[in-house]
Amino acid sequence: MEKLEQLYEGKAKKVFKTSEPEKYWIEYKDDATAFNGEKKARIAGKGTLNNEISAIFLSMLKEKGVENHFIKKISATEQIVQQVEIIPIEVVIRNIAAGSMAKRLGWDEGKELPKTIVEFYYKNDELGDPMINNDHIDILGLAAEQELVEIRKQALKINEILKEFLQNKNIILVDFKLEFGKIPAGTIILADEISPDTCRFWDADTMKKLDKDRFRRDLGSVEEAYQEILRRIGGSVNV
Ligand code: UDP
Repeated sequence: MEKLEQLYEGKAKKVFKTSEPEKYWIEYKDDATAFNGEKKARIAGKGTLNNEISAIFLSMLKEKGVENHFIKKISATEQIVQQVEIIPIEVVIRNIAAGSMAKRLGWDEGKELPKTIVEFYYKNDELGDPMINNDHIDILGLAAEQELVEIRKQALKINEILKEFLQNKNIILVDFKLEFGKIPAGTIILADEISPDTCRFWDADTMKKLDKDRFRRDLGSVEEAYQEILRRIGGSVNV
């Protein structure tokens, strides 16, 4: 398979076409951004770490019956994925109050939620990814009602699988963001990445943050935290 022209460059990844029409070539970058791009930095080794971490999570989910775009890792920073048309909705799943939800509701960060919360955000950088509800999704034509039911169902199932997997590694899954895409046949599958860039992971004993909040909040040791996640989920830390 050959790598062809770049289709898109996002904040943390580049996407290329390949000689096979149904496959994309993804390159994970060391760039980190927060607060809708206002804060920027390069975190040495992040691309390598997230490529491997995401590959582990997506392969594990596939084994457990969650169809997703991951095909194979081809180098330290690159992987091949199935081509999908990304649905421009960021799906956030929360088990514990943190970040924007803790702020919005005035809840202390760390408070366990009585039930899992699913939120939708409009994936639109110009607007700063605003939170939207089913009616907004309907009038924007982002997804049909039935598709949204399917997305929510898949998101909750993924949460249960990830929560249990991580619990066994002494990691609390606080919250995370997913993106879904459509394959040509119209089926909705999980896409994008699952990594410390897109999840909040806390050590179950110390509550130490092992995710992008270390960068957002200037807590230091960002790379070390990502390495710790990779080590605990069974990956190699020799990056
Ligand atoms: N998240 C993400 N991309 C975004 C916004 C949020 O991956 O553009 C993830 C974030 O890492 C966290 C969860 O979604 O795990 C919830 O984020 P929140 O709404 O609390 O926003 P934040 O406080 O990160 O701005």
